[in-house]
Amino acid sequence: MNPIIIGSGPAGYTAAIYLGRSGHQATIIEGLQPGGQLTTTTIVENFPGFPDGIDANELMGNMRQQAINCGAEIMHNTVVKADLSRQPYSITLDNGTTLTADVLIIATGATAKYLGLSDEQKYQGMGVSACATCDGFFYRRKTVGVVGGGDTACEEATYLAGLCEKVYLIVRKPYLRATQAMQQRVISNDKIQILFETNVTGLYGDDGVEGAHLVHRKGESDEHTSDLPISGLFLAIGHKPNSDLFKPWIDTDKQGYIITRGATPLTNLPGIFAAGDVADPNYRQAINAAASGCRAAMEAIKYLKE
Ligand code: NDP
Repeated sequence: MNPIIIGSGPAGYTAAIYLGRSGHQATIIEGLQPGGQLTTTTIVENFPGFPDGIDANELMGNMRQQAINCGAEIMHNTVVKADLSRQPYSITLDNGTTLTADVLIIATGATAKYLGLSDEQKYQGMGVSACATCDGFFYRRKTVGVVGGGDTACEEATYLAGLCEKVYLIVRKPYLRATQAMQQRVISNDKIQILFETNVTGLYGDDGVEGAHLVHRKGESDEHTSDLPISGLFLAIGHKPNSDLFKPWIDTDKQGYIITRGATPLTNLPGIFAAGDVADPNYRQAINAAASGCRAAMEAIKYLKE
């Protein structure tokens, strides 16, 4: 039985490379977004080894090819069901196939969060997005809003400023949470205007988003509302780990991140290892995901030997 890797981001591919090079052919279940979250970004400038940066799709394509060269079998499916109650563990794919394995590496990553407004669903694909690099092109020379004050929001706002006429960065706190370098990029960009202490409460428009309803200084004595004319709203308020399928058996924290033993990829079940963003509430960087994929594979190799 091949070890199964669920997920195809830097963690999954790296795990497959290490497994393959130690004689264990891995089966990778690629999921809905082959290459993972990184494929929704443009240039990656902080992955060591590429002094001028590298196109994210090229980076992930290279990792995928390297995994294949090391013997990995790639399945273009998603996992719809899991039974981790006993070994061999079994997973069911969207095409109805059931696979079993004594070793599983969960590298399913995390998914963008939404505000929870009914208007987000109403205007999904008609002005609401959680991926500027995927959808920004549709808003060329238009005015858009980006919600969030972290690194993702600053990165998305900066990217959109390169395409759009104007970008409002809508931040609920009176400050940005992003790293200094990212903040500086936003602050020095003439096309970006930051709206601090502002929340989006709804959207309006007939055939798509024409604007957002805002509330400023919520809960304060000078709380007030306004309408902001925008053609698109991009959410950049964090991520939810993709661990739901495994929760009946695998320990997670209250946000759903898989709990691993210290800095190891060991979960509460023998032979099941977690790697990448699904087990990383803090760093969420491709290089960390790749490193944890390596650790997961090394633990899996040790486990298979024993
Ligand atoms: P963060 O959790 O860092 O930031 C989320 C932002 O969204 C915060 O400003 C938060 O506000 C805001 N927010 C959350 N919920 C709501 C809500 N319901 N309404 C309005 N605003 C909300 O997430 P990121 O995705 O930005 O970053 C996650 C990690 O990934 C970080 O460690 C970051 O450094 C890293 N990262 C690094 C990048 C890089 O180095 N190139 C690029 C992108 C991310 P509040 O502050 O009030 O909680």
